[in-house]
Amino acid sequence: MEIKFCPQCGFKLKAQIIGDEGEVPFCSQCSRPWFGFSYPCIIALVVNEIGKIALLRQSYGDPGRYVFVAGYIKPGERAEDAVCREVREELGLEVERVKYINSYYFEKHDNLMLGFVCRALNSGFTLSCEVETADWFSIQEALNKLKDGSIARSLLLDYLKQENL
Ligand SMILES: [Zn+2]
Repeated sequence: MEIKFCPQCGFKLKAQIIGDEGEVPFCSQCSRPWFGFSYPCIIALVVNEIGKIALLRQSYGDPGRYVFVAGYIKPGERAEDAVCREVREELGLEVERVKYINSYYFEKHDNLMLGFVCRALNSGFTLSCEVETADWFSIQEALNKLKDGSIARSLLLDYLKQENL
């Protein structure tokens, strides 16, 4: 997201050259730059004790389209804590061993998606009202159900690559 007006005083920002950064939107009233950014989100590959993967369908998503747990990181929140919170909110599962895998850019919503794998401590779902259905699938089933080119599928493939390193 490019910032056009100062979030502190509302003054219109003007490009100013700042060192190696080049032109950066700058508030001459507050004399500070406002760097643009993409909203940080997490996406979580949840694995259970027998190596099955949690896939869910959102009630507002495309029918028949499976995804992973994902959500925005709150201000001041660590990405790993956002993973635990989102998995708890959406699926009602507690997780441990939250491990970073890779990051992805989601152009449609200007999101920087931080991809994690985590281990579920329980297998029984308690779904949020935003989740229509969720289930455990084998890796092969998950690869078949996740849309080609989706971030969830990329995360699963990156995870499998790292597992084999
Ligand atoms: Zn300002």
